[in-house]
Amino acid sequence: MTTVFKFGGASIKDADAIRHLTPLIEAHEDRPLIVVVSAMGKTTNKLEALLAAARSEDHRDTYRECLETLQAEHREVIEALFGDSSESPIKRVEALFVELDAQHRKHRREAYAKHYDQTVCYGELISTTIVAAWLNHSGIATAWHDARELVRTDACHQAANLDWAATAEFVRTRLAQNERVILTQGFIGGTEEGASTTLGREGSDFSAAIFAHCLDAQEVVIWKDVTGLFNADPRRFDNAVQLERISYTEATELAWHGAKVIHPKTLGPLQEKSIPLMVRSFETPDAKPTVIDAERRFDSEVASCILRENQVWVEVRPRDFSFMDEPRQHDILGRLVEAGLHANLIDSSAMRFALCLDDKPERLGPLIESLAGDYEITRQDELTLLTVRHPHSGMMAALSQGREALAERRNATTAQRLFHSRECPETWHIPD
Ligand code: ASP
Ligand code: MG
Repeated sequence: MTTVFKFGGASIKDADAIRHLTPLIEAHEDRPLIVVVSAMGKTTNKLEALLAAARSEDHRDTYRECLETLQAEHREVIEALFGDSSESPIKRVEALFVELDAQHRKHRREAYAKHYDQTVCYGELISTTIVAAWLNHSGIATAWHDARELVRTDACHQAANLDWAATAEFVRTRLAQNERVILTQGFIGGTEEGASTTLGREGSDFSAAIFAHCLDAQEVVIWKDVTGLFNADPRRFDNAVQLERISYTEATELAWHGAKVIHPKTLGPLQEKSIPLMVRSFETPDAKPTVIDAERRFDSEVASCILRENQVWVEVRPRDFSFMDEPRQHDILGRLVEAGLHANLIDSSAMRFALCLDDKPERLGPLIESLAGDYEITRQDELTLLTVRHPHSGMMAALSQGREALAERRNATTAQRLFHSRECPETWHIPD
């Protein structure tokens, strides 16, 4: 029976954390075990900063410094784990850093997204090289695989789309599943032409689901620094509780509305094959996990609250006294798609179409400029969108505490209200 484990950046952030993986993997006796790993700690963010420096003529020194710091951090982890053991992966990792530097030189004048994928993928290539060497060193026979040769995608860089048929074939034929631990990277894939691609930030969860789907795994375990999924972010809600069991649909809704728990694309491939997903804590592995599967009975038992901050409310009105009819809505949504933005809430009336958007200046700026060419535009910044799944009666009023909502929406399962962030509390409380 195949199981897939996924370890995110926090679970391999330093040498101690990596040492901690050994007993978790040893304790799981079924083989093969597919282990999908992200980049260490905040490496992906650092690689993004390195990329920015690489693309700027004026930041040659910053580029060198960033690269050397990143290399030193990884070297330190390797030294702490292996000392001067002959099994140290130091040479292979140094070679990967040389490759990374060469990729920057090769791609720095190319389109950003392509350059991004050819370089940011090294976070995972390096982390998995270290973790595979560590597991082998600890007596767990582990085979390392390059996910770029397994996960086949198109060339839509930074948000690559999967070629499921080719991926299924590669995963089934290239992974020798004879009784071992197979370790590979999350987040990354490759095109037919051999270019590296990435699946979108936090995409390792999705990678785990891809492998599970292709191998008809019996379950996926996402190891996190929390004991499971909560009904609200425990850092922002003082009475958040863990969800015991929810459906694929509910988990997808929560992720879609902005709960930073699981990459929203993860659940589809699992749902199709009825593969359950467990969210467990690597710090307290015996604690009760959250189970996500096809059972929908428990979805509405607990209300869940999600905050999205840094929101912008854009109201679009026709210049003349005419309607905001379907052709106009179509036009506005078309421009939104082109800008690569997603509306977190939409409201329309006869002469007004309004959208709540994430404040991503590099995308929002051009969108607003384009809309302002044809419409009357107003925007309000620094807003917070509160989404509640399965609110009980009176809950939205209690959460609003007299604050005026700039917009609101409600259907049978979900309620949303948009507030000025300055009027929102630092710590929220979920009403009984
Ligand atoms: N390392 C990538 C990121 O930080 C992918 C992941 O962690 O899932 O976005
Ligand atoms: Mg990560």
